[in-house]
Amino acid sequence: MEFEEAKEVLNAIQHAGFEAYFVGGSVRDTILNLKIHDVDIATSAYPSEVKRIFKKTVDTGIEHGTVTVLDHGRAYEITTFRTESTYQDFRRPDHVEFVRSLKDDLKRRDLTINALAMKPDGEVIDHFEGLRDLKEGMIRAVGVAEERFHEDALRMMRAVRFASQLDFIIEKKTLNAIHHNAHLLSNVAVERIHVEWVKLLLGKNPQAGLKDFMATELYHYCPLFSDKKQVFNKLMNLNSSQLTEEEAAWTLLCYLSNLASSGVKELLRAWKSSNSLISNVIVATELVTLIRQQKMDSWTYYRSGLHCLRIANEVAVILGFGINEDILEQKYAALPIKDKHELQVDGGLLINRLKMKPGPQLGVILERLEHQVVNGELDNQQDLLLTAASAWVK
Ligand code: ATP
Ligand code: MG
Repeated sequence: MEFEEAKEVLNAIQHAGFEAYFVGGSVRDTILNLKIHDVDIATSAYPSEVKRIFKKTVDTGIEHGTVTVLDHGRAYEITTFRTESTYQDFRRPDHVEFVRSLKDDLKRRDLTINALAMKPDGEVIDHFEGLRDLKEGMIRAVGVAEERFHEDALRMMRAVRFASQLDFIIEKKTLNAIHHNAHLLSNVAVERIHVEWVKLLLGKNPQAGLKDFMATELYHYCPLFSDKKQVFNKLMNLNSSQLTEEEAAWTLLCYLSNLASSGVKELLRAWKSSNSLISNVIVATELVTLIRQQKMDSWTYYRSGLHCLRIANEVAVILGFGINEDILEQKYAALPIKDKHELQVDGGLLINRLKMKPGPQLGVILERLEHQVVNGELDNQQDLLLTAASAWVK
């Protein structure tokens, strides 16, 4: 396991005379018996001191005190204990101060369940009753919630995200403080909100996360979400099995919002999504409607591609009208071609063999061939395609 190997890194720091602990999500998730995905290490050693201990290091975020250590083919982020002093505009701190005390480092963390530290021997250090909250399934800010959300408004999104992800309940004072300060979220970069929003949707209990997201009015301060109350209500009432990926989550949201492709594009652009995500969600959202209307023909399978078909069907299943997964896969596999390039003729060949001239007619004929092959009206054989094409040439 990842922890075992990382222990050597911690031991090396300790041998050099400094403190070193596992911190953050990996400690939380280990205690919850969940799979851990990244191991964060905090140390009393300053970055320059960390660099002296290890042969291979990279300055990944040295201004924030983070050095990445490369050890046995793995990378570990080691961050010096720090406090975050002057906060401006409710965003991240504008500068950090390195400190030698673990407690000071844990104090600047967002939630009690994220403010635990663990020694290499497994002993947990718990200054803020994070263990109790883990046991009780509580999301609680470290210290005074109001202040913590003023320092960094993203923490409010993180709180609702963890409520969904872990199926925890947000403690009352923390929840009230979110409601009270929700407007501060407008100061936070959309990219950071995006990460938390997607984790909320893909969580174990998105209904619970959404309930808090709405009750606290956080959604008012997210791009193009202020008119989505009804959509979120619909989402909450789906007894949805867990969504498996971001594209499916957006597809479900866009479908429930009745968005046409221009609307999908506008929404996802506002959320600063990648172009590939935007185009997949556009295709998948349209597909959900076609699945519902049982209008899935070969051409639709072909032009959508397997990836978008799977996303759309995942959403259709949640909505109660999905296609059996095996049948979907079989139908796709049975397509005579999966891509235009598999067609046994191309423009060059039509020009050579049928003496056609380059121009729009060529494109029209190629498309017609593609259609007929996909629909099973023509076999994908060169001579047959050429014969068919020659009959269409004017
Ligand atoms: P995940 O499992 O999604 O990685 P995580 O809690 O590990 O969850 P990270 O973004 O990896 O989240 O952050 C690591 C740790 O850094 C957190 O557990 C928390 O202690 C601290 N942290 C992260 N973001 C903030 C924040 N905005 N304010 C305060 N502390 C934070
Ligand atoms: Mg993490």
